[in-house]
Amino acid sequence: MMFETILIADWSAAASPTGSRPNKDAIWVCADREGVQDLRYFPTRAAALDWIDEVLAEGRRTLLGFDFAMGWPPGFAAGLTGEPRALAVWDWLAARITDGPENANNRFDVAEAINRAFPGIGPLWGRPGGRDHPDLPERGTTRRDHGIPEHRRVESAVRSAQSALKLYTTGSVGSQALMGCAALPALRRRHALAVWPQETGFALPPEGNLLVEIYPSLWPPAPHQIKDAGQVIATAHALRTAAEDWFTAPADLPDAARIATEEGWILGVSPEGGAMRPAASDCFALPPGVAWTPVETALATLRDSLSLVTDVQEVPVEQAAGRILAAPVAALRANPPAANAAVDGWGFAHATLAPGPIPVAPGRAAAGHPHPHPVPPGHAIRILTGAALPAGVDTVALQEDATEADGTVVLRAIPKPGANTRRAGEDVGPGDPILSDGLRLRPPDLALAIAAGHATLPVRAPLRVGVPSTGDEIVAPGGDGIPDVNRPMLLAMLAGWGLAPVDLGHVGDDAQALADRLDGAGCDAILTSGGASAGAEDHLSRLLSERGGVHHWRIAVKPGRPLVLGHWDGTPVFGLPGNPVAAFTCAAIFARPALLRMAGAPWSEPVGRIVPAAFAKSKKPGRVEFLRARLRDGAAEVFHSEGSGRVSGLSWAEGFVELPHGAATIAPGDPVRYIAFTELGIG
Ligand code: AMP
Ligand code: MG
Repeated sequence: MMFETILIADWSAAASPTGSRPNKDAIWVCADREGVQDLRYFPTRAAALDWIDEVLAEGRRTLLGFDFAMGWPPGFAAGLTGEPRALAVWDWLAARITDGPENANNRFDVAEAINRAFPGIGPLWGRPGGRDHPDLPERGTTRRDHGIPEHRRVESAVRSAQSALKLYTTGSVGSQALMGCAALPALRRRHALAVWPQETGFALPPEGNLLVEIYPSLWPPAPHQIKDAGQVIATAHALRTAAEDWFTAPADLPDAARIATEEGWILGVSPEGGAMRPAASDCFALPPGVAWTPVETALATLRDSLSLVTDVQEVPVEQAAGRILAAPVAALRANPPAANAAVDGWGFAHATLAPGPIPVAPGRAAAGHPHPHPVPPGHAIRILTGAALPAGVDTVALQEDATEADGTVVLRAIPKPGANTRRAGEDVGPGDPILSDGLRLRPPDLALAIAAGHATLPVRAPLRVGVPSTGDEIVAPGGDGIPDVNRPMLLAMLAGWGLAPVDLGHVGDDAQALADRLDGAGCDAILTSGGASAGAEDHLSRLLSERGGVHHWRIAVKPGRPLVLGHWDGTPVFGLPGNPVAAFTCAAIFARPALLRMAGAPWSEPVGRIVPAAFAKSKKPGRVEFLRARLRDGAAEVFHSEGSGRVSGLSWAEGFVELPHGAATIAPGDPVRYIAFTELGIG
């Protein structure tokens, strides 16, 4: 990443505070710190600047963007200040604009003073009716002879851009430019901000903070109740992907040096018009609303953006089943610890045997009762399975092959040297690696650990995953309304994955109640369902965007959109769709590998197996489909309805048939990929 923090502000020229609750006239600022977004709203410019100061003071390399014009059309700067430089206008404004802590300001007086520096009437125009500003015309059409063109060059490349000469009424941006640019010189001094391209030219300085002009409408807004908020999120996303060539001289821009200094440019506007294309996203944030994200991109993004969060605990081996190993484990000692007999029979030193009956040495060797004396050369001793080989024994003859009589034993055939014995350490030797980090411990793994001398094992503390359910319509199972299907289902899925489910109960459509519930959760991750789109009652989205940043993933998958990814005070939140079939599918496909990764397991996706279809279907391209399926007679049959409300199909199914992204026509007998629920840890 070129910049550690992307700080995007949607400015406002309001003359009074815009209210304490989030609203569309407020200033919205999004700080994207290494891909994690933090969205804030501010009722005053002073409050917004205070927070911007704080974020810059964090000391990370920051790209700071404001959405007001940071330059004016040709001739404006020189006419006002005598110098053809936008930055000279900033200083001029900073010396004259007053802006109170409650937004009270003198911008129309200053605008009038600007107009007096130019001949004729204008160039600035627009003011509230009834105010006494003889040198600031109320309508643009009454201006004449001021000599300044209406637009900057960059504005001709952006269809919808308004002229910065217009200070008032619908869509005007001129007032914001005056108020904003007046604040910039002080901000620059406080944080050593270089200004692109006014100061740097069309080039990206190798280091240091950079101040740029942005234009949020270049990119489709992220879903948010308030469009301005969605726009700063989307702009932060887009600039997070900015490549170095976004900053370099637009190739076919004549007069680039003058334009840079005098007019400025909007970062992300290509000279041919329109927006630069954001590069493929490299972090947690996907380009929102731009396109449907392929399943594999969504999975790769989860894989790359989540890391394990749980502590290490040392637990007795007998309590370690199902736990995730926190470190590679090596054998503490050999298995078997000593050479021993693999069968019941007669032990001897192979090389010392003479032909004929073998004299029997006194005593016997049994498991747990080692024989204390060496066995004399040419003798045999009675030995039982598991007994340590006594000194002087290297081979065992099977009891069934021997006849004992008169203090001797006669063998039907002499076995090969070393036969029917187990060497010390033939299974594992001391120090041999036996179990790998991240392994979810199964009964055979415990067996090996114990055989190799372990009494305890280092495992990960269980990942605590909180599950609330949301929505006024949802009632407890057995109640009168829409029963809460998701929460018990998800809690049980988590338990099956070896995680520690935490029941966070049901919360109605009440943002404060949901916030309180999440605040008290005390979990490593939160898995919620419902309230995940951008609708009025979808409090989860809104809370996340206000508190810690939110990403809306529109994944090209059926069933299952949208998926919301966010952080609540640093705790990852997975917002599953409310529909139970979609919630189940998204939990199994997306949440499972992500949560297991956080819990300390390696990333893993189901492999499935190819089986013949027992159904026919034709599928449109553009998304992956997970059909509820089961195997009968080796072929995959699918549930008779794909309706995503059909919970009966979930229970009927024993797995998914996964149909790939492209178009497909499937006839009975065609190969399809079947993923058993057991492979997804659902059984
Ligand atoms: P939402 O995502 O909140 O718009 O919800 C989509 C659908 O899922 C609606 O029909 C909800 O009633 C339903 N839904 C939401 N949460 C649950 C739940 N916990 N159990 C069953 N259905 C739910
Ligand atoms: Mg809802």
